[in-house]
Amino acid sequence: MCSVVGYVGQGSSRKQVLEGLRRLEYRGYDSAGFACFDAHNGSIVVAKAVGALDNLVYALEQSPIDHSTGIGHTRWATHGPATHTNAHPHSSGGAIALVHNGIIENYQEIKQELQRESVVFISDTDTEVIAHLFARNLALYDPRQALLKTVQRLHGAYAFVAISPQYPSLLFAARKSSPLCIGRTLDSHWIASDVLAFTGAAKEVLFM
Ligand code: GLU
Repeated sequence: MCSVVGYVGQGSSRKQVLEGLRRLEYRGYDSAGFACFDAHNGSIVVAKAVGALDNLVYALEQSPIDHSTGIGHTRWATHGPATHTNAHPHSSGGAIALVHNGIIENYQEIKQELQRESVVFISDTDTEVIAHLFARNLALYDPRQALLKTVQRLHGAYAFVAISPQYPSLLFAARKSSPLCIGRTLDSHWIASDVLAFTGAAKEVLFM
């Protein structure tokens, strides 16, 4: 179990995502991470820390990053030890950042296929295959098609949320057998593993 949280809307995604992760901290504490769009240079910036969420909060105080679109994660490791490299969000070059709750059963098969296409993997996680697969599809197809092509390849349980500098005000998300719900107001959207992440802030809730 772990938690994923995403936010797009008015103001600070860092504040919203950290608040959501704090409320879901019971779901995993091997590591924590946050990623958001960096409007100054049009890229994605990532911060991660091994251990409890407080370590990520401290890392973000030392090098503050923020934007109105962001994603976060607390990890309960299933594939690979609790290290900085294995912490989410996972990236594919600068093309996307992605957080995932679940287990991809056929990740070895997909990993080998992508390695034959010269994709370089840096972590031990099953999650990294989703990041590379989605980035490859996003370069070839429109966002909806890219997401569909990606999930068609995945066997197992997943709830994932991703951001891309190509689409700075979009959150990409999909789920199968792992929970994910959406909260919204007129100008903000949250997406999270548990409704607790945005209870009191969102006016409307959708269970995916
Ligand atoms: N399988 C992924 C990993 O080991 C996600 C685990 C989780 O759901 O926390 O990083």
